Amino acid sequence: MSIAEQPLVEASVPAYERLSVERKAAIVRELSALLGERYVLHSSYDVALYEYDASIDRCPPDVVVLPASSQEIAQIVKIAARYRVPVVPRGAGTGLSGGAIPVYGGIVIVFTRMNRILEVDYENLRAVVEPGLVNLHLSIALNPQGFYYVPDPSSQRSCTIGGNVGENAGGPHTLIYGVTTNHVLGLEIVTADGEIMEVGGWTPDNPGYDLTGLLIGSEGTLCIVTKIIVRIVHMPEAVKTMIAVFDTMDDASNTVSEIIASGVVPAAIEMMDQMILQAVEADSHAGYPMDAAAVLLMETEGMSESVAEQLEQIVSICNKHHARVVRIARDEAERQLLWAGRKNAFGAVGRISPEFYVQDGVVPRTKLPYVLRRVSEICEHYGLRVGNVFHAGDGNLHPLILFDSQVPGEVERVRQAGHEILQVCAEVGGTITGEHGVGLEKQEEMALIFNNVDLQVMQQVRTTWNPDQLLNPGKLFPRPGRCADIKQI
Ligand SMILES: Cc1cc2nc3c(=O)[nH]c(=O)nc-3n(C[C@H](O)[C@H](O)[C@H](O)COP(=O)(O)OP(=O)(O)OC[C@H]3O[C@@H](n4cnc5c(N)ncnc54)[C@H](O)[C@@H]3O)c2cc1C
Repeated sequence: MSIAEQPLVEASVPAYERLSVERKAAIVRELSALLGERYVLHSSYDVALYEYDASIDRCPPDVVVLPASSQEIAQIVKIAARYRVPVVPRGAGTGLSGGAIPVYGGIVIVFTRMNRILEVDYENLRAVVEPGLVNLHLSIALNPQGFYYVPDPSSQRSCTIGGNVGENAGGPHTLIYGVTTNHVLGLEIVTADGEIMEVGGWTPDNPGYDLTGLLIGSEGTLCIVTKIIVRIVHMPEAVKTMIAVFDTMDDASNTVSEIIASGVVPAAIEMMDQMILQAVEADSHAGYPMDAAAVLLMETEGMSESVAEQLEQIVSICNKHHARVVRIARDEAERQLLWAGRKNAFGAVGRISPEFYVQDGVVPRTKLPYVLRRVSEICEHYGLRVGNVFHAGDGNLHPLILFDSQVPGEVERVRQAGHEILQVCAEVGGTITGEHGVGLEKQEEMALIFNNVDLQVMQQVRTTWNPDQLLNPGKLFPRPGRCADIKQI
């Protein structure tokens, strides 16, 4: 049988059955003997917190464990394999695509007790951390010595570096420096059969296959990450942060394209539209104009002379595209306030809607004006309000579709609108996720960008690492019944 004719693994896995009371009790006994009763949660009340992340799906685990070491994780995986129950790693649960939701129940591993910085080597610009370390806590520890860790998801005050590795997370400053995979050199992992192994290492470019690159972004479907070797960098000599205010989205989008095309690569270019600006300003009082159609929040950093030069070029391009005003942050306090407004934007939207659904498409920057128009048209068609706050420099869109799940049919309309937005992204040569991952949310959309041979090869990789499909099952690949949507070659 040719590879194109083989059935997708997900479709061939029998549905996992919920654990019987007796089997669950036996698993809880073994896990409690290993970790101590305190670190094994199993009542429906205790596990309720772990049934959702920041996406719109939910499903409860049977058991939640809080291990303190790689050795304990290896033992947990062995117990799960013996009972044939799924194991789902979970960081802070800020994921936006349902990656940490245990769709088939089973054991959720939480890394709250594995949150240490194990080593910092300033001379060689490396640190070794545990997966449960909160992203921002690493930079806070490094800043007094003049260093920091680059990837800065807007959720960095709560998301973990293990979760960032799981999703290959980005953030505003990944425009110039790249995403998590560009800042991780090696991993310690626990394999599906409970062995501890290391991939990559202290030095870049190890011989053999790039297993570190393969595992970053694998969303807990190939292994459990237990230690991470990261790059750290010096804090820049100079930083300038500014906002440019526009009366049309097109002017703001064209400014982004021209800045990048001119060869200037700012450290960050973020865009917010009027709906988001109104929510953000009411929340943060950072001085964002509430009547503007769009604002670009931009930052340039490096040596003082080059920052001054870049700033001049950026201001001139903004003016050429009819910026109403370009305002440069006067001091660090104003700079921090502008960033706090942007980084809290999702939370600020809670002021104007009980719920929202964040999409994560990527498009070529030059297609931004067209795609943003299509996003509005699609949401209008479904009677839904939408705001946009996104990493414009990367062409990484985040339409926030507002909804209320109490209104009958609204969740389905939101999902359909999200699907159509991703179709548009795929049609213009973009892709279905820039940084939030596929998880549960975008399984069907994988078929928009990959053909069945692509998916088969990816599944062969998963089957090699995760032969019994017990590590985070039910993620990434199209689910049974929907495989007919997959592109044929
Ligand atoms: C307000 C807000 C803003 C956000 N902004 C950004 C942004 O700017 N950029 C961005 O990229 N994302 C952003 N996100 C999404 C989210 O924060 C990231 O995806 C983040 O990396 C998830 O980290 P977490 O610790 O919450 O992981 P979780 O959500 O708990 O897990 C994410 C995935 O990683 C897997 N995983 C977790 N730990 C491990 C481990 N130790 N080993 C193997 N797999 C593991 C899980 O199984 C799951 O598949 C945002 C989310 C919110 C709510």
